Amino acid sequence: MIRDALIGSGLAAFLFCLAYGYDVTPIILVGGLYAAFQLVISGRIGDRKFEIVQETQSGGRVSKLTFGDVGGQETAKRELVEALEFINNEEKAVRLGIRPLRGILLSGPPGTGKTLLAKAAANYTDAVFISAAGSDFIEMYAGVGARRIRDLFGTAYSTARACKKKTAVIFIDEIDVLGGVRGRHQGHLEYDQTLNQLLVEMDGLASVSREGVRVLVIGATNRADLLDPALLRPGRFDRLVDVDLPDKVGRRHILSIHTRHKPLADDVDIDKVAAETYGFSGAHLESLTNEAAIMALRAGRVRINMNDFSEAMEKVIMGERVERKPDEEELRRVAVHELGHAVVSELLKPGSVAAVTVSSRGKALGYVRQSPKSDRYIETAAQLEARVSVLLAGAIAEELILGERSTGASQDIQQAVETARKIVNCGLSDLGIISEEDIPRDQYHTAVTGLVQVQEERTKSLLATKAEFIRDVAGELMSMEKMNGDTFRARLSEAA
Ligand code: ATP
Repeated sequence: MIRDALIGSGLAAFLFCLAYGYDVTPIILVGGLYAAFQLVISGRIGDRKFEIVQETQSGGRVSKLTFGDVGGQETAKRELVEALEFINNEEKAVRLGIRPLRGILLSGPPGTGKTLLAKAAANYTDAVFISAAGSDFIEMYAGVGARRIRDLFGTAYSTARACKKKTAVIFIDEIDVLGGVRGRHQGHLEYDQTLNQLLVEMDGLASVSREGVRVLVIGATNRADLLDPALLRPGRFDRLVDVDLPDKVGRRHILSIHTRHKPLADDVDIDKVAAETYGFSGAHLESLTNEAAIMALRAGRVRINMNDFSEAMEKVIMGERVERKPDEEELRRVAVHELGHAVVSELLKPGSVAAVTVSSRGKALGYVRQSPKSDRYIETAAQLEARVSVLLAGAIAEELILGERSTGASQDIQQAVETARKIVNCGLSDLGIISEEDIPRDQYHTAVTGLVQVQEERTKSLLATKAEFIRDVAGELMSMEKMNGDTFRARLSEAA
């Protein structure tokens, strides 16, 4: 009422001024500002359309992706399929009195295939797939997020009806952005209202489907620990599925999916690539196969060879080559440093060096790529000590061959100290089981530095017998830029 009266009198004033030749610019300005404010408040500006994956309007599968397109993640797939069976066999589930599933939360590191799994789940249940990100709901203005949540659920029902589907999957990526513990955010009113609305909508996904459409919410997060407990309580997201980094078998599977349509040379050994990519996510592996294909294209080849994969691995780990050219003296230091790491790595863990390189990538001037024999989930004190020794070997080789150390080892030293701390904190040092907070600082410090010093001495004696080898091979490495693990091992055994 008041708004209409204001608009009416504004219009009258405008016409009056126009008729009597007054300047109407201030009225236009104030009117424009008011209209813009109204648009923002009502959420019309910056409104987002939710992504609807849909191929055919006439009953075709709404997302083509199947669980077969998701590499590894066997446990996650099994858990998901089991949960989705309740939807596919609803009658059976109802007969047993099983409460229908409303939400599934996929939790795990970035790029592990959570979005792929949600799309495959939509396909498996013959559902329309509506996707949104947590950040889509957060605006400065109170109420906008809550309205968007209502729109999202509305879109899910209407799209399912339009596509003649019985199920709709709503996928909310980065759900921690809107589902964080309430009351924690600054300007928390908007966040809280948005989350409350999501809870209301999820509670509304009653046991009988609305107008013949059942909605399943799949959330994805890298930080399940940040979520409001209300969201995780049974009846909302009552299935929590871990989507972890893939193991070696999983990596092999993902690599085979992404090389399916790529021409590979005969020397390509996917098992070896899988073994050397410990710690890579599915997204890293997809990028690796893509980069390898680009390398082949740049070299004018029609097939991707093993060297392309090796180069691509370095690019994915370290970043693109940079135009930073150290002078001859500095390059020699880098070669000596990297060879120090490689020699000790090979002596302590035979077969562990995958490549030694002296080209600049990202922030590094050179690096040694190691490939573990198998994926490791826990480490012993001996393994951690060996890691400290390999980390210190670069600086010690510089000292041994070139007479002094350099700042190039600062990162290595930081990591060596971190590893020594881990040994002490895990109760693997002579101190036995300790509490880091309660132990006197000087005792803790002595234990950590003592561990590092023991490894420093061991590294010195390991390298003392290999000084000539490092001196000789440094020149070769400088001209080759990169030496693969097999060539390096052959040189090392020749020199022994
Ligand atoms: P984020 O947490 O960053 O949103 P996400 O876990 O949702 O990541 P996806 O978007 O599913 O990851 O994966 C990104 C890309 O990585 C996919 O398009 C696919 O190419 C590749 N990928 C990731 N995981 C797998 C997998 N398990 N199998 C095959 N490809 C994968």
